[in-house]
Amino acid sequence: MTTSITTIVRDPLVSTSATYEQVNWRSVWNDFPLLKQRVYSKPLAYLDNAATSQKPRAVIEKIEHYYRYDNANVHRGVYALSERATQAYEASRDKVKGFLNAARREEIVFVRGTTEAINLVAQSFARPRLKPGDEILISTMEHHSNIVPWQIVCAQTGAHLKVIPITDSGEVKLDAYRQLLSNRTRLVAIAHISNALGSILPVQEMITMAHTQGIPVLLDGAQAAPHIAVDVQALDCDFYAFSSHKIYGPTGTGVLYGKYSYLDEMPPYQGGGDMISQVSFEQTLYNTLPYKFEAGTPNIAGAVGLGAALDYVDSLGLVNITRREQELLEYATEALLSVKGLRIIGTAKHKASIISFVLDSAHPHDISSILDREGVAIRAGHHCAMPLMDRFGIPATARVSLAFYNSEDDIERLMVGMKHVQALFG
Ligand code: PLP
Repeated sequence: MTTSITTIVRDPLVSTSATYEQVNWRSVWNDFPLLKQRVYSKPLAYLDNAATSQKPRAVIEKIEHYYRYDNANVHRGVYALSERATQAYEASRDKVKGFLNAARREEIVFVRGTTEAINLVAQSFARPRLKPGDEILISTMEHHSNIVPWQIVCAQTGAHLKVIPITDSGEVKLDAYRQLLSNRTRLVAIAHISNALGSILPVQEMITMAHTQGIPVLLDGAQAAPHIAVDVQALDCDFYAFSSHKIYGPTGTGVLYGKYSYLDEMPPYQGGGDMISQVSFEQTLYNTLPYKFEAGTPNIAGAVGLGAALDYVDSLGLVNITRREQELLEYATEALLSVKGLRIIGTAKHKASIISFVLDSAHPHDISSILDREGVAIRAGHHCAMPLMDRFGIPATARVSLAFYNSEDDIERLMVGMKHVQALFG
């Protein structure tokens, strides 16, 4: 059943990146059909990229091509169509391997997204290892997806969740982290970049500190993978999770990277077709990695679309993307700070292109609604980080999150909208 997989022609991610100067940053938005629309007769300024990103034509066309010409179930059919579908699906795995610089393709598991990846690690890695009194360490900045799975597994095992405190600017307190690491700590699970504040966590340092005590580390890379280059071997993280839809790929697909030695000894997360090598009513033998963790028909088109998204990102170059987004971050930060009474929540020294803010005079939801009438889409709310909001003593923030396809013009539109907010709320 899985024998054809090992003979697939590999299509690794070969870097074709342009130089920074070669990319026309003002016109890359042309690659994204959705961005060309008008909202309330105004040009759309899409500034909610941390929630989900828009899709380039190359991704949309790849998915259409897959369904038009190659659609069949993978790993099962001994006929041309199924082999093509399998080849496309497995080629995407190789692209992800190259994208993360993983050592082996078996370390790349396709899942539904970051949320499922973390739940998989919680149930399949942590649960069998945890005993009453053991500890899992997370930070104050986590998305609910990197809090609740650990609360569930703690309730199942009698382990405790410990939280690393942060400073008022939104940086991890490393001294407190050092003190929290103990012989009871079984896992550290932290965001690579905070979705609500934009803080880039000092993950390299934090991994080294944890490993000194033999503690494995999971990085929630949902916000990092689209914005900064990730090298799981250089980081030496034990698990890395990210979602396709935030990196210009389709929804419903994501990736769990895990070190081979850990994945190999973990029991399956779900049972079903494809994750087995042999089944009888008496006993079942599980499939090899990574298929042991991919029960049932996978999101084939999703994986294929993710592969196209990674090719697209690679054509621009993640290093260039980071640089462009830092320019936009600086431009937008300066512009927003000119608004009277506006306070930025999250002023870490190292930040990705996310700006959370509050205004004395207007609730974030009012800000977002007024901006919407100007064609400017931003997010308002707790950003699935309620404990973080509590830390800052606020119920919500307004959040601008920028992608490389945004421009200074989008930020000018944001500022026009902010003038309306000021006019209405003072
Ligand atoms: N972690 C972080 C930091 C996020 O920003 C998000 C989504 O916003 C998630 C996890 C969950 O991602 P998904 O909903 O794609 O599973």
